[in-house]
Amino acid sequence: MKVYISATLRSFFGRRTETETQGNTIRKILKDLTDRYPEASKGLYGDDGNLRGFIRIFVDDEDRTDKSFHDDEIADGSTVLLLPFIAGGAPGESIIPDERRKEVSLDDSEIDRFSKHLLLREIGVKGQKRIKAARVCIIGAGALGSPVIQYLAAAGVGTLKIVDSDSVTPENLQSQVIHGTRDVKRPKAASARDTVRNINRNIDVTADNTRVEADNVMSVIEGFDLVIDCTDNYKTRYLLNDACILSRIPLVYAAVYQYEGQVSIFGLKGGPCLRCIYPEPPAPGLVPTCAEGGTISPLSGIVGSIQAVEALKLIIGIGENLGGRLLTVDTLGLKSKFLNVSRNEHCPLCGNSPSIYEPEGFNYEEFCGLMKEEEEIPVEGYTAEELAEKIESGEPVTVIDVREPHERAVKSFPGASVIPIGQLVRRMNELDPEHDTVFICKQGLRSILAIHTLREAGYKGPMYNLKGGMDAMKDIIFSNEAGWL
Ligand SMILES: [Zn+2]
Repeated sequence: MKVYISATLRSFFGRRTETETQGNTIRKILKDLTDRYPEASKGLYGDDGNLRGFIRIFVDDEDRTDKSFHDDEIADGSTVLLLPFIAGGAPGESIIPDERRKEVSLDDSEIDRFSKHLLLREIGVKGQKRIKAARVCIIGAGALGSPVIQYLAAAGVGTLKIVDSDSVTPENLQSQVIHGTRDVKRPKAASARDTVRNINRNIDVTADNTRVEADNVMSVIEGFDLVIDCTDNYKTRYLLNDACILSRIPLVYAAVYQYEGQVSIFGLKGGPCLRCIYPEPPAPGLVPTCAEGGTISPLSGIVGSIQAVEALKLIIGIGENLGGRLLTVDTLGLKSKFLNVSRNEHCPLCGNSPSIYEPEGFNYEEFCGLMKEEEEIPVEGYTAEELAEKIESGEPVTVIDVREPHERAVKSFPGASVIPIGQLVRRMNELDPEHDTVFICKQGLRSILAIHTLREAGYKGPMYNLKGGMDAMKDIIFSNEAGWL
């Protein structure tokens, strides 16, 4: 029978991750283990001879810690796991050098404010000084940025830079809890900076309205100890990954979509980068973006909070971080998984013979399929008002909705035929090439892709795009209003 030993207990078992045992019940397995590793009995048992309260024993994912299970026979081929309830973790190496830590001091008000950290053996004054000395750059002040920025500010990170080029919109408020109703239309970076100042006046916080591009990404992150990826698009993710690997700055990565999230850390010694795990992004339009696909409100709170914890662990130098592991969280089934991820020796960025040496030498638009094809063959389109006018005046227009079923449930376009983008070519014969056809989606981007796809497949009829998609229709009032509800 194989017994797996959680990292924090390994010191008792000669640093083994697993060991073979002869026992076929928990009682016999524990006896065998403590006979062979006498050190382990100190770790596993308290003075009263009982298993210590922080240790759990799992057999095939079932908690069998309770004594009543200890004589049950365990089936051959089962997995037994010894897991401490609170994973303390062996101290890692802090990304903040000792000299920097020694340069800062904590005054009385800070001792007060951070007393809950100072009480933690692993943090203490030294750890808190490292937090204060840390310089963290957060890219994106949206859904993930909201918990990351607020927790890092509350935890006492001394220097924060918040980079975001967008402004707050009402639909942001469902998940971007760093902004409030009165911040609508304000730049997100400035709104987030004001929240940080409200949390702790002593933080050196900068709001940067810059859009991160290949020609500025290196200077945006320069001088920081850590970068946190709280963005929502593939291009910026690869840009940040490349810039961080090339600048040797660790990157705490996370992404959320609908009910699922993932978190990892790139750029740690020997660990992988984003390109090792995902050598290329999905083609544009094939996977709806977070803005198009939606997310449940607290998901980014959960995932972003994990990013904040990972950031603090790297800064203090404690615990087991997510380097080399990708954590996935599914909030619908409330399940999480750790996937081991490793460096790819053929990675064009961090592999053995890299081909990317600077972000400026790489075409991110082409890589992410963002080349504006409409420059070659322009797609004609209607504004929401123009389309509404055509429909009101009774002109014959065929409207094709290429959105996914769950998106149409939010608001459907009456009279539209529904053909999800993946079925368009197969169902081309349903279109009438003698009449105008207008393609609609949520934001007017996938509909352009739909038109390109049909053109390539040889469709010859006149095709138009609804500019701005259904989002742009939201203020349109039709005379037959009931038809739109
Ligand atoms: Zn790589």
